[in-house]
Amino acid sequence: MVYFIGAGPGDVELITVKGMKRLQEADVVIYAGSLVNAELMAYCGPEVKVYDSAGMDLNEVLTVMQEGAASGKTVVRLHTGDPSLYGTIKEQMDALDKLGIQYEIIPGVSSFLAAASRVKAEFTLPGVSQTLIITRLEGRTGTSEGGKLEELAKHKASMAIFLSVQALEKVVERLKAGYSDDTPIAVVYKATWPDEKIVRGTLKDIAEKVREEKIERFAQILVGDFLNSAYELSKLYDAGFSHMYRSAKE
Ligand code: SAH
Repeated sequence: MVYFIGAGPGDVELITVKGMKRLQEADVVIYAGSLVNAELMAYCGPEVKVYDSAGMDLNEVLTVMQEGAASGKTVVRLHTGDPSLYGTIKEQMDALDKLGIQYEIIPGVSSFLAAASRVKAEFTLPGVSQTLIITRLEGRTGTSEGGKLEELAKHKASMAIFLSVQALEKVVERLKAGYSDDTPIAVVYKATWPDEKIVRGTLKDIAEKVREEKIERFAQILVGDFLNSAYELSKLYDAGFSHMYRSAKE
């Protein structure tokens, strides 16, 4: 049996109880070492065999799954956040279907939810927005809705943008097609990790602030008036942005 498990955003206590239990009984774990918190492996037993998928292609991942399943082992494929978002699980599931290998998916706390919790915001505020758009800037491979960030911005919905902080200036330019310059935006780097950073601003100044913090990867971009509660407004202009550091286990 293969389990695709959402590892959560980083904090090892933000995996589900079900996900943690599967890790405890896993014989084989495959995870992306660059994004998934390696401390989650502490839940595993001493005999577990762990693979970092960073250096593996799809076929190598499938071979490990196939060999594990054939010898009756419990195989865990750990994905960051929730596997259904930018997780590339579809191609793995399709391949397992062809091989006749059974699998189950255990959801996780996606990073867009973790980021909202760290900025203490609610995406759906009455009278502000009841819609959340989850998207990304088109990647190297292109996306089916490529070039549509401008179109999406016109809805003025709450927005969570994945995988795009490395091109924040481009993101901001496109967002300005719909949102006004003073729309609040927050960049949350490594939400719930000990080295988390939160940068708040508006479409006018966020790119510069994020450049100063040298955040180039691993961040959520949250945009929309939902970030603009009276409490946050008063903080926005005097503090500018805040850093948040906390110990690994609070
Ligand atoms: N399935 C994952 C997303 C995988 S794509 C999920 O549900 O969160 C990887 C991207 O997700 C990163 O480039 C970043 O944009 C975002 N991400 C993942 N973990 C994050 C975290 N702890 N804090 C901020 N962004 C994160």
